[in-house]
This record gives sequence, C-alpha cells and structure tokens, in this order.
Amino acid sequence: MESCDVLVVGGGNAGLSAAITAREAGASVMLLEHAPKALRGGNSRHTRNLRVMHESPAATLIGSYSSSDYWSDLLSVTHGKTDEHLARIAIDGTAELLPWMEAHGARFQPALEGTLGLSRTNAFFLGGGKALMNAYYGAAERLGVCVLYDTEVRSLCLVNGMVGDVSIVKNAVSSLVQPKAVVVCSGGFQANIEWLRESWGDAADNFIIRGTPYAQGVILRNLLEQGAASVGDPTQCHAVAVDARAPKFDGGIVSRLDCIPFSIVVDGAGRRFYDEGEDIWPKRYAIWGRLVAQCPEQIAYAVTDAKSEKLFMPSAFPPIRAESIGELACKLGVDASALEATVRHFNRAVRPGKFDPSALDDCRTEGIAPPKSHWARPMDAPPFIGYPLRPGITFTYLGVGVNENARVLLQDGRSAANLFAAGEIMAGNILGEGYIAGIGMAIGSVFGRIAGREAAKVALA
Ligand SMILES: Cc1cc2nc3c(=O)[nH]c(=O)nc-3n(C[C@H](O)[C@H](O)[C@H](O)COP(=O)(O)OP(=O)(O)OC[C@H]3O[C@@H](n4cnc5c(N)ncnc54)[C@H](O)[C@@H]3O)c2cc1C
Repeated sequence: MESCDVLVVGGGNAGLSAAITAREAGASVMLLEHAPKALRGGNSRHTRNLRVMHESPAATLIGSYSSSDYWSDLLSVTHGKTDEHLARIAIDGTAELLPWMEAHGARFQPALEGTLGLSRTNAFFLGGGKALMNAYYGAAERLGVCVLYDTEVRSLCLVNGMVGDVSIVKNAVSSLVQPKAVVVCSGGFQANIEWLRESWGDAADNFIIRGTPYAQGVILRNLLEQGAASVGDPTQCHAVAVDARAPKFDGGIVSRLDCIPFSIVVDGAGRRFYDEGEDIWPKRYAIWGRLVAQCPEQIAYAVTDAKSEKLFMPSAFPPIRAESIGELACKLGVDASALEATVRHFNRAVRPGKFDPSALDDCRTEGIAPPKSHWARPMDAPPFIGYPLRPGITFTYLGVGVNENARVLLQDGRSAANLFAAGEIMAGNILGEGYIAGIGMAIGSVFGRIAGREAAKVALA
C-alpha cells in the first residue's frame, strides 16, 4: 500500500494550489487526476481570469477594487446566500494571490477590455487557463509532487472524522493509498447527467456541459454519504446560454453567446420570456443558462439584426442569416408567424434613445411584457441573424461544508480531523446562488492554498 503525507484529489486550479503549498511546507504530496495528461486541469484549463481585490492600479488591473466593493458585488448576486466569514476570507486572500501565482509560473496580460468589461476587477491569464495549468504542473513536478494521471479516486474511508484508506483505480487496477491528510479538489457533479436528472428531471438531457467530463461528483457523493455536511442547493449552478450546436462536453469558452443584450430572445413558440437588457452583461450573463433551462425543450433563440452583429464576441458557430424574420424563423425552426408578431410588437414598443453598448443606455421598450430595459432598438436591418441557445452548465454549487481552515465539516457539527476541501467542491459555501465573473478561480486559489497549508500541518504534526 502506498502512503504519503498529503493526498490531493483532482488536478485543477484548487488541487494544484493545494499540492504546491503543501509540498512547499515540507510534506510529501501525491496528486491524483482522473483525466489523462492531455486533458489535465479540469475546468480550470478553460478559464481566462480571476477576480482580485487591489488598492491601486497594477500592470494587469486598472484603478482599485476594494474588499468592500468586491463584497457588495458578491452580495448583490447571491442575494445574501453566502457565508460572509468564508466569503471575506476568499476576497481578502486574493490581495496576495498574484505574486504567489507569478512565482509559480503564472503570467498575466496587460489590463484589457473584453466583452465583459472586467479590466478593473479581473486579472487575465496570458495564454488562458491552459497555460496557467501547464505552469502549475511544471512547478508542482519541479518541487517533487508525485502526479498520477488516469487515476480515479473512488472513495475515501471516513471514520469518526478521520480519513483512513483511499481507494483508487488506475488502468482498471484497484489499490489503496494511506495518506496522513487529504485535500479534495475534485470539482462539482455537473458532468453526471444522471445526478442532474435527480433535480432537473428529463430537462438535464438537454444540458450542455461546458467543461470537463470528469466532474462526476464521485467523491462529493461519497463524502456526503459518509456524513460530511452538505452546503448548497442541488439545482443551483453557474449556467450560461451556449450555442446549441456546441459539443456535449468540454466546448469551453468559445460556445458562450454574448449577443443577448443586443438581441431579443424567444422560446420555441416565438415568445419572449425575459428582459434581455436588464443590466450590464457581467451581472447578467450567468442567469441565462437557467432561463433557457426553464424553456420548453430547453431551447431558445437569440434574434438580432445587422446593426448589432459586430457588438459582441462571436460564437464558434456562424450565425444563421436570413433576409426576413419569417425566413429566419423557418431556418431556426421557430413558428414563423409567432416570431413575426413578436418582432412587430417589440419594434412598436421601442422608445427613441441614445444607443450606447458600453453603458446602461436609455434605449428601452414601453408597454410590453417582459420589457427590454436597455439597448432596445427596432429590429429592421437585414440580414437578420439568429443563434440557437441551450443551457451551458459551468459548475454545480452543491458541495461540502468547510470552515475557515478549509477543513470539511461533518453533519454532527464536528469538523474532520485530516480532510480538507477547496475549489468547486466547496464553492457553494460562498456561492449560494448567482455568480460574479472570476470568483471561481479566486475561491479555488485562496482555499486551495489554505487547504494545502492546513493539510501539511496535520500531516507533519
Ligand atoms: C468554459 C469555462 C470557463 C470558465 N471561466 C472562468 C474564468 O474565466 N474565471 C473563473 O474564475 N472561473 C471560470 N470558470 C469556472 C472555473 O473553471 C472553476 O471555478 C475552477 O476551475 C474550479 O477549479 P477546481 O480545481 O475546483 O476544479 P477543476 O479545475 O474542474 O478540477 C477538478 C479536477 O478533479 C478531477 N477529478 C474529478 N473527480 C475525480 C476523481 N474521483 N479522482 C481524481 N480526479 C478527479 C477532474 O478530472 C479535474 O481535473 C470557467 C469554467 C468553464 C467550464
């Protein structure tokens, strides 16, 4: 039987942050990753940025973004469904992250404007999450972390709050590892369609999973069944509208559709169902996955015209074009007379205003429900364009409860002796609902480092 001081389950951002930290604290560390080497890095390899508090401008960030600004942004999207103590630890912990990340190979882009307009709040990885993961794997290996790919952790034996044997499968061969401490960083359960069906029913079959197919929730379920405290609602997740033509798994960032504020969005019957211009896009993009999930057959269509085509990041798939709304409806498979009527009513309801795609402008509708509160312009400039939309699930929020040391909490109120969690598997402590761009990587980085430090302390005590 193999042994080590600290065993890390999952090699994404949280797992690598934990493994590197534990190794630097002097522990022997083994990191087990279910995916093959080519697909290492989980959802983290799809990321582009993380949200960082900072008091003054830096090479990668403009202006300042205080801890209290960050907290109020988080509060506004979670509607108070967050553990303030843990959230503030995550927020304040970001202040010292960039130098640590750079010391382990991360590189950042100069501050830039993108579709989400995040240059004040979010630092962008040069080369994206894949480059960040490659840098971290390099750093971990140089430090002597033992990394095993194609290795699934099947279960942890949790007795009286203490993890004993860890059961693993590599190349269809089962074995046991006996670590002194364990950090679970194995993500959510979003790629487990059967589990999603428990909350969403048949609708789950129509979900597109934006990231890794290895997020099966095996360890999450195993821990919850053995008395780990659960946090979060199983239906809550980060979900965006993606192009319905995207692959079922791992399509990444390029299938997200950012055209919604400059479009109308209709269901299969050609009816609008939500205010497409409710607020600035960074505060609204993450509600659209759920909205599409609630549509019949989990399909919707964004429709706009030639005036708006250059205003948003294009999908990886070309838009469907037509010279008339009726023709577009036929191409999209939407009831043509219903869509024509929707566009007619919408155009009549648009009030004159000064269009400004970069601000909450005064172009709005009057007298229709739902309204379009900003960026409403008559749809009258052919070619008309449309995109089919599906719910794109990024990650689920159901997770294990943790304390400020990333120690896993038990249902009986105690905390586990040698078990820690970081990343998506515990993000539900902070994200009860809603999302602000870049906080996923922030939570994983800060709690990954805390978990690595605390696990090493336990193992070396
Ligand atoms: C397309 C996309 C874009 C995103 N963009 C951003 C962004 O720009 N900024 C941001 O903050 N967040 C973003 N996110 C969210 C972000 O990816 C996550 O919050 C973050 O990466 C979570 O890190 P993690 O380490 O917890 O999980 P992951 O990076 O998913 O790592 C979990 C790892 O565990 C492994 N694993 C699972 N089960 C087992 C098992 N039983 N045994 C062994 N290994 C196992 C998986 O293979 C995986 O490698 C994005 C997500 C997606 C899908």
